[in-house]
Amino acid sequence: MAQLIDGKKISQEIKDELRETVAELKAQGKEGALAVIQVGADPASSVYVRNKKKACEYIGIRSESYELPEQTSEEELLALIRKLNNDPKINGILCQLPVPAHMDEDKIIRAIAPEKDVDGFHAQNVGALVIGQKGFVSCTPAGIIQLLKRSGVEIAGKNCVIIGRSNIVGKPMALLMLRENATVTVCHSRTKNLPDVCRQADILIVAIGRPKMITADYVKEGAVVIDVGIHRQEDGKLCGDVDFAQVEPVAGAITPVPGGVGPMTIAMLMHNCVEAMQE
Ligand code: NAD
Repeated sequence: MAQLIDGKKISQEIKDELRETVAELKAQGKEGALAVIQVGADPASSVYVRNKKKACEYIGIRSESYELPEQTSEEELLALIRKLNNDPKINGILCQLPVPAHMDEDKIIRAIAPEKDVDGFHAQNVGALVIGQKGFVSCTPAGIIQLLKRSGVEIAGKNCVIIGRSNIVGKPMALLMLRENATVTVCHSRTKNLPDVCRQADILIVAIGRPKMITADYVKEGAVVIDVGIHRQEDGKLCGDVDFAQVEPVAGAITPVPGGVGPMTIAMLMHNCVEAMQE
């Protein structure tokens, strides 16, 4: 039986540590505030936004909500971001993605001041990660590093295969694993012989966005399997990109869905907010 990597428990530990840090910072007169912008009322985004606000409350920082209607113009959104960039009381800003189709997502990301970009999506923060300098790191991959470290998984020298090359998960994940001295392979939709490549992995990180695609044939006996995918099935239950029932008996350790990577993303957002308070 594989070790279950418990993201719920580990994310709670992190939030408890952050709560203590926030209390110490407050005692020094430092306050934290996160501005959360949502354009439109996509139900999945609303759930994420609500959970982010709850996490802020838990660790003891203020959150300010900006719920803008779907038909908001790009210029109106940019004006709000500029106002928040200049507000000394706000130290973190996030705009829930995706934004409506009439807006240029890159332009919105670029508009957020890099020192308030707690999502770690701004090119300046991504560039800092590439060259190993200080900056905000995208929350999901940062959370996966914490999951591995806090579960006692050794990373240095291991073969790590990542499936997916998105800007928010796959690419920053590859850079973080490289920073931790893993030997890294990044696979994507054009990779040939994907199961063969994946079977080389000591640590397999899956961020594809296809329910239960990764079956036992992709996994080496004893490998650590991290499942980033999250999908609502027809029966209402959640599942990941990994076929858990098939892979769990082969893996050495595995994250469940739900309760694996998901809760870590918000914990690391809170980590970034606390870092922003310390600037
Ligand atoms: P994305 O759609 O931007 O990227 C998917 C990647 O998978 C692409 O790089 C593509 O090349 C690759 N891919 C697609 N089909 C493939 C195939 N058949 N074989 C090999 N590679 C293939 O997705 P994303 O934003 O990186 O998210 C991936 C998944 O993770 C989604 O299910 C998403 O909902 C989930 N996600 C979860 C969290 C979390 O907090 N748990 C955060 C972000 C994303």
